[in-house]
Amino acid sequence: MQFIYSNNFSALPFFQFKADLGGSSPGSDLASSPSADQLLSAAAMATMEGLIGLVNRIQRACTALGDHGGEGSSLWEALPSVAVVGGQLESQSSGKSSVLESIVGRDFLPRGSGIVTRRPLVLQLQKIEDGKAEYGEFLHAPRKRFNDFAAIRKEIQDETDRITGKTKHISNIPIHLSVYSPHVVNLTLIDLPGLTKVAVEGQPDSIVQDIENMVRSYVEKPSCIILAISPANQDIATSDAIKLAREVDPTGERTFGVLTKLDLMDQGTNALDVLEGRSYRLQHPWVGIVNRSQADINKNVDMINARRKEQEYFSTSPDYGHLASTMGSEYLAKLLSKHLETVIRQRIPSIIAMINKTINELETELNRIGRPIGSDTGAQLYTILEMCRAFDRIFKEHLDGGRPGGDRIYGVFDNQLPAALKKLPFDKHLSTNNVRKIVSEADGYQPHLIAPEQGYRRLIDGALHLFKGPAEASVDAVHLILKELVRKSIGETEELKRFPTLQSDIAAAANEALDRFRDESRKTVLRLVEMESSYLTVEFFRKLPTEPEKGSNPQGPTSDRYQDSHLRRIGELNMRQINSDIMIAYVGMVCDTLRITIPKAVVHCQVREAKRALLNYFYAQVGGREKKQLGAMLDEDPSLMEKREAIARRLELYKSARDAIDSVAWK
Ligand code: GDP
Ligand code: MG
Repeated sequence: MQFIYSNNFSALPFFQFKADLGGSSPGSDLASSPSADQLLSAAAMATMEGLIGLVNRIQRACTALGDHGGEGSSLWEALPSVAVVGGQLESQSSGKSSVLESIVGRDFLPRGSGIVTRRPLVLQLQKIEDGKAEYGEFLHAPRKRFNDFAAIRKEIQDETDRITGKTKHISNIPIHLSVYSPHVVNLTLIDLPGLTKVAVEGQPDSIVQDIENMVRSYVEKPSCIILAISPANQDIATSDAIKLAREVDPTGERTFGVLTKLDLMDQGTNALDVLEGRSYRLQHPWVGIVNRSQADINKNVDMINARRKEQEYFSTSPDYGHLASTMGSEYLAKLLSKHLETVIRQRIPSIIAMINKTINELETELNRIGRPIGSDTGAQLYTILEMCRAFDRIFKEHLDGGRPGGDRIYGVFDNQLPAALKKLPFDKHLSTNNVRKIVSEADGYQPHLIAPEQGYRRLIDGALHLFKGPAEASVDAVHLILKELVRKSIGETEELKRFPTLQSDIAAAANEALDRFRDESRKTVLRLVEMESSYLTVEFFRKLPTEPEKGSNPQGPTSDRYQDSHLRRIGELNMRQINSDIMIAYVGMVCDTLRITIPKAVVHCQVREAKRALLNYFYAQVGGREKKQLGAMLDEDPSLMEKREAIARRLELYKSARDAIDSVAWK
């Protein structure tokens, strides 16, 4: 699959982002989902809706991009929110849903026995002008306004099942519901599954622990405000909500204690010890609540009436009358809103610092794995040539030094070649017996009268042929080293890792070139050897019969191995005598020459060419290719492509979040 990148990620349609999230987003109307930018754009809007609205939008953008915590320092983690925590015994519910509904002033949460809340519900309340119609909106179904709260209830149920399916298990992917109403205060609450002790029928046993882990993952964040809900008709010491809150917030500075079901307490008892902070002390005052009873719900008592009744309950209560102004769900909503706003304000500097740090990290990472490529032929060609150059640079560093490996070529000339030459069996080939035999054969029936020219020539020729072995071995040894350096350089070209196809194309082209250089080099060194046998240095032999001056050296510098015996034998030389030492000396001289010229040929044909023109042939080929073929060469590793997309999306989210915060934070 070929992806064409635009340099402007925010211009990409949102469905493309979603498609890459690998199903981590709830099943939704993909094509119409807003982009993070759209979710976070208008600064003016942010000013109007205040800090809570701003955080709401950033939260929605996080979820839209599959960022909902659990991944270290995500933006989501840093955003303050209110998590609603409560126990859920089989017969005894703490009244979580009821509290949320009365804060919203509407019935909209699914009811039933068992664990009804199975995905976090991020409930974002946004106050709108008086007189305007209230409505709800889900992130997974944007631009669809729900005016009917019964339909919202159904949508929550359906959307829960969409992820958790028939298993009735839980999922940590939140559902986002925004409620716009004149009757709410700006507030974000997260409804979580109730802490339970036993799995009910049809739910896996692990659900008890899974719920606790999920709830913990929320309340553990230092930015989380815990709304701990406990029923008044149960001993506060056994409240699961308070137990958990005490664990994660021992000083009680981010816990709000809520006591429900005050109306259900036994006659003659009251909850003043709890409400006045004597039973369990928190930094914030406890809030007592009276929700609708089951009977009220059955009778369809609406929320507005219920709120009024609740207020009446407190103002007329002999026990709680003195606390009436700080009790009830309306008061709770205002208290939380104010506190949330304060916390957000306090945390903004650290949120901005965190955003900036993450932006830096993401940009570094994006640079490391490579920026997107343009889609035109020119850009593709440019990218391919850049990659080739990067590889070539590294390859040259291996040859010229800076990276290891080039020194091994010198090793071939300095050790391998001389050792191989030394091992050649000249002594055997030119032994006196062999010389006599071959010279006699050359003579035929009539033995020679003067120097046995033909015999000598054949002998020397045979000996010189032995040089072909070491000459070719040098070529092959250097070839292997060069191939190894290509392999290494390919591996060390970081930029290339992104394009596996191009990587293997370049490797193949380089190896083909090396093969060509090797063939040329082999021809050249063999020619050097053949040249030696096609024309012998005749002076070497001419000087032999004359008596040399003592210590003189007629052949120039030859190796001691031949020279000593040569000089020794020269004095007693008889032209008619068959002498193997002369030939050994001559071959020795040739050997010295070749030891010097073979490396020159090898470097000239292989090493120098590899440095000069390793990819020339490839460049010519690529230059003539069509756009489609170039695109195929730049086929990226799909996992890397996904990674780049994901990073680019997060980068976009963080940048737009920063802009949005900047525009309202310092007002
Ligand atoms: P949840 O399971 O924690 O979400 O609890 P719910 O809000 O669903 O409440 C469970 C039951 O307790 C429902 O029948 C509610 O009507 C009832 N309930 C909740 N709060 C109160 C309260 O303050 N007073 C009375 N009388 N009943 C309540
Ligand atoms: Mg509930």
